[in-house]
Amino acid sequence: MEKSHIEAAVAKYCSAHGYDRLSVRAAMFDMDGVLFDSMKNHAYSWHETMKHFGFDLPEWEAYMHEGRTGAGTINIVSNRERGHDATEEEIASIYKYKSDLFSTRPTAPRMPGSYELLTKVKECGVTPLVVTGSGQVTLLERLNRNFPNIFCKDLMVTAFDVKYGKPNPEPYLMGMEKMKAVSKESLSENNFIVVENAPLGVQAGVAAGVFTIAVNTGPLPDDALLSQGANILFHSMQEFCDNWEMVAEVLGVVE
Ligand code: MG
Repeated sequence: MEKSHIEAAVAKYCSAHGYDRLSVRAAMFDMDGVLFDSMKNHAYSWHETMKHFGFDLPEWEAYMHEGRTGAGTINIVSNRERGHDATEEEIASIYKYKSDLFSTRPTAPRMPGSYELLTKVKECGVTPLVVTGSGQVTLLERLNRNFPNIFCKDLMVTAFDVKYGKPNPEPYLMGMEKMKAVSKESLSENNFIVVENAPLGVQAGVAAGVFTIAVNTGPLPDDALLSQGANILFHSMQEFCDNWEMVAEVLGVVE
């Protein structure tokens, strides 16, 4: 990516939000599809589950729904194919089948480039946060095992913290509040970035007023993320990592 392209994206963001510049102090990372290569497991499980119940949900479409509640995804398909919502019982049994199938899939590995990027981010004095819709109880332990000495438990937003979830800006607004509480500094939107792989996640970051970096780690066209307002886009975490030094300069990262 060209430096001038990032500069133009930052200038556009700043003029839209009334800031002179970005001065990034914290980076809010989504988890599935950003830190872990876990979306293939979700997409496979959704596709096979819906097929089992007589519905059609192609794997690529599951990536479009990433971040939605299970009931939300099921009702979109139910309405499309039957013209009405699924019943509570149907939702419960479909979602249980999906969760059970998902649990049989191999453990998702760390996304290539993600640990290296996080190490660079932290070395620059930028604080990393995790902001995820996931509600796994072992999440912190798994993050610490895969990303040693990177994250802190007071700087995480999970399914247990939020009422609405993405695409609502709530999780990212909460991430900013947690960072303010921990750092005891008065920070604004231009002191943050969001890193997201999903259209609904990009929507949430943009709605929170934060400069949002899309990382297209799945099968969707770039426009699925750019059309939701992503400020810049990388095609992998490795590409983002390789470009970090240049990005950090434009984002006003202070050491
Ligand atoms: Mg994601």
